[in-house]
Amino acid sequence: MTFSIHGLAVTRGIAIGRAVLVASSRVDVAHYFIEPDQVDGEINRVRRGRNAVIKEIQRLQQSVEALGPKEAPPELKALLDVHLMLLQDEEIIGGVKHWVRERLYNAEWALTSQLEVMARQFDEMEDEYLRERKADLEQITEKVLRAMQEEMQGGSASLYMPAALHAAGPTDADAADKTALVLVAHELSPSDMLQFKQGVFTGFITDVGGKTSHTAIVARSMDIPAVVGARSASQLVRQDDWIIIDGNAGVVIVDPSPIILAEYQYKQREHELARSRLVRLRDTPAITLDGEPVDLLANIEMPEDAAAAVRAGAAGVGLFRSEFLFMGRQGHLPDEEEQYQAYRRAVEGMNGLPVTIRTVDIGADKPMDSSAQEGKHLNPALGLRAIRWSLADPAMFLTQLRAILRAAAHGPVKMLVPMLAHLSEIRQTLSLLEQARVELHREGRPQGAVQVGAMIEIPAAALMLKTFLRYFDYLSIGTNDLIQYTLAIDRADESVAHLYDPLHPAVLRLVADTIAEGRAQGKEVSVCGEMAGDVGMTRLLLGLGLRSFSMHPAQILAVKQEVLRADAAKIAPWARQVLESETPSALMGS
Ligand code: PEP
Ligand code: MG
Repeated sequence: MTFSIHGLAVTRGIAIGRAVLVASSRVDVAHYFIEPDQVDGEINRVRRGRNAVIKEIQRLQQSVEALGPKEAPPELKALLDVHLMLLQDEEIIGGVKHWVRERLYNAEWALTSQLEVMARQFDEMEDEYLRERKADLEQITEKVLRAMQEEMQGGSASLYMPAALHAAGPTDADAADKTALVLVAHELSPSDMLQFKQGVFTGFITDVGGKTSHTAIVARSMDIPAVVGARSASQLVRQDDWIIIDGNAGVVIVDPSPIILAEYQYKQREHELARSRLVRLRDTPAITLDGEPVDLLANIEMPEDAAAAVRAGAAGVGLFRSEFLFMGRQGHLPDEEEQYQAYRRAVEGMNGLPVTIRTVDIGADKPMDSSAQEGKHLNPALGLRAIRWSLADPAMFLTQLRAILRAAAHGPVKMLVPMLAHLSEIRQTLSLLEQARVELHREGRPQGAVQVGAMIEIPAAALMLKTFLRYFDYLSIGTNDLIQYTLAIDRADESVAHLYDPLHPAVLRLVADTIAEGRAQGKEVSVCGEMAGDVGMTRLLLGLGLRSFSMHPAQILAVKQEVLRADAAKIAPWARQVLESETPSALMGS
């Protein structure tokens, strides 16, 4: 039966495919397609994993028996019996065979897919005792996965190799059943999401998250339709259901009828056609009708994203979120050499165009590891995040500053500092940067000049622009956080997403003042939050005097189209009216 689920639109476009449900705790299980001649081998891997766990349980049963009837805890005996029974249930291997044979899923993916199917059956059972056996099913699946991992560790590959690595293999896509797949999860961390970059999924749906949560930001950078904040989607959708993601409306349609499917297939083609038309603008300079040049820059997460930025015709990288180099590494931080090489790859990848490296912004909804403690504070967005985190460990920060300066020897680099609010933070940062310069000079290591900029993303910073402009070469407005902190709305919380308003008069006032003050002092101001890539905001920002926009590469051409159609001088009075209005959104169409 067709039904729809409403969430928050993250990326425009339509995705149509089958649902792959992934429990949040199992997103690190590898998802990749196998070759048809590997089918039997994969099924046997699951069989061997299962048999190993059966043996382990039987051994345990024997030792429990050996304790004698008085000593043997009856609960343990019963538990072992249940686990054994579940493991021997042919539905597991039967399902695994289906996913491996029909869909060419790798063994671990097939096993967890079958787990989702069976877990749902347990959820629907009337009998409470039977319903609770779902936890046992999950436990034995974990055990089988572990047994398979142990077997693999003896071999060459690791069970938990990130999906992206597998998916990068040249044969995977060819081997795959061509059915598109849509990932459905309760929650995905930004680093989980990064794992799926260039992976097998053509769409994403999560129960939680706001439009500018970092998970949504990474989804947007992947340029595939995604909906976040879809609340109970992961409970309502079943493994393998047909799904339509309408990324424009933020709607998920489950089990669509043939008529609905045909309608969305048509919309999908239209969308793709419109995109392919935009490609023609790639080499057109971004200049307004009245001759104002506008810098359209790219936001990237990894050095390899520089290629997409160049392909989209970006004038440079306006935001390299360096924290993605620090995530998902079990707390093991990248050393100076690793960082230097990564920054250098980004710089070289941009072929002489400037690269803005933001110093690490770990914390809040970007924990270093999904299970890490730093995201678990009561108010993580107000806690030890970004520059606060860096300054809390000056040696670690110095390592990053040295790496950035060294990378600057290979091309134009700008440095950007997130979440500054205090003069003391500015001073400490600049003094550490000077220390890094002096150290490198003393060691005779090559380094380059870097312009230093501050992010304006805390209202306090936007209210002390004169001070900021005295210390920095340029400013970049982080509207995602500026909105969050001005309106006291958690950007990652879907329950208050309706109040997260980029057009709130207070937000517009801070953005406009920052642009105006920077211009008055002859210093560059750019916007690198999601607002910069929103075509609905381009005219307003141009009208407010913004001439530098940084966004995901996939958004550049659409924004360029808006720039080419705009007359900056003519829209300035309208932009002032919007700024003065109590209800700016009412004027946005005019
Ligand atoms: C912002 O806050 O707008 C920004 C660009 O930084 P991030 O989204 O990484 O917090
Ligand atoms: Mg920010």
